[in-house]
Amino acid sequence: MALRRSIYKTPAQLRAMVEPGLITARALAAVRELIAPGITTLELDAEASRIITAAGAKSNFQMVRGYRHTICTSVDEQVVHGIPGDRVLRAGDILSVDAGAEYQGWNGDSAFTIVLPDPSRPEVVAAREELSRVTEGSLWAGIAALATARRLNEVGAAIQDYVDAQGEYGILADYVGHGIGRKMHESPSVFNYRVSDPGPEVRPGLVLAIEPMVVAGDPATFIEEDDWTVSTVDGSAGSHWEHSVAVHDGGIWVLTAPDGGAAGLAAFGIEPQPIG
Ligand code: MG
Ligand code: MG
Repeated sequence: MALRRSIYKTPAQLRAMVEPGLITARALAAVRELIAPGITTLELDAEASRIITAAGAKSNFQMVRGYRHTICTSVDEQVVHGIPGDRVLRAGDILSVDAGAEYQGWNGDSAFTIVLPDPSRPEVVAAREELSRVTEGSLWAGIAALATARRLNEVGAAIQDYVDAQGEYGILADYVGHGIGRKMHESPSVFNYRVSDPGPEVRPGLVLAIEPMVVAGDPATFIEEDDWTVSTVDGSAGSHWEHSVAVHDGGIWVLTAPDGGAAGLAAFGIEPQPIG
């Protein structure tokens, strides 16, 4: 019988998760630089692969059974798990990019959304940028809640409260965040909405990938014929933001943000503390 691994990491294990987080951040930053009309999502995938490999790390997405790419690229009504391919990005597209790196046996996982400028459709672009802003804001609200939470379900409540306060948006219910460590996907599940189960205690050693998935319309989704891509039924646009976050003795630290999350958390009065 296999021993059940604790969801709480040791201080040394938390330190080991700093580098995979930073490599993941670098890969996403490099991809972001390339995003422009005319590039294909497969070209973005190649860039992420190049950065992760050059760092001596591996793409942990390629370790997910049946998945062959380094990133997920979800465009317009696709919310998550879009597969890179020959799709050419166009002005006005809303694109979410999700990536992860495994380095020396530890994992990082992060995602961002971007809207390509389109002067001919200012209302569409503004609405999509607002969707992304709301989703990113809800991520930071969830991370900020983690800094003071006693139980994990306070994170989902903070995410939902933030989104609900912004207007008529939908939060995907069937896809959630997760613990992260030796594996990219570990216990516990991190819900992006209120749940009555308090979940595990929030204390040093907890490392979570928090990842709200928010849409501009109805949150009902379906899986496309490629067996991966999650798209909205009503065709409304989706956004996905994600960070891997560690709770440690000194506070919290966002592993997949080069500044530890300082910029994103400032609005919530939380100052991240480096892992000692
Ligand atoms: Mg991810
Ligand atoms: Mg994740």
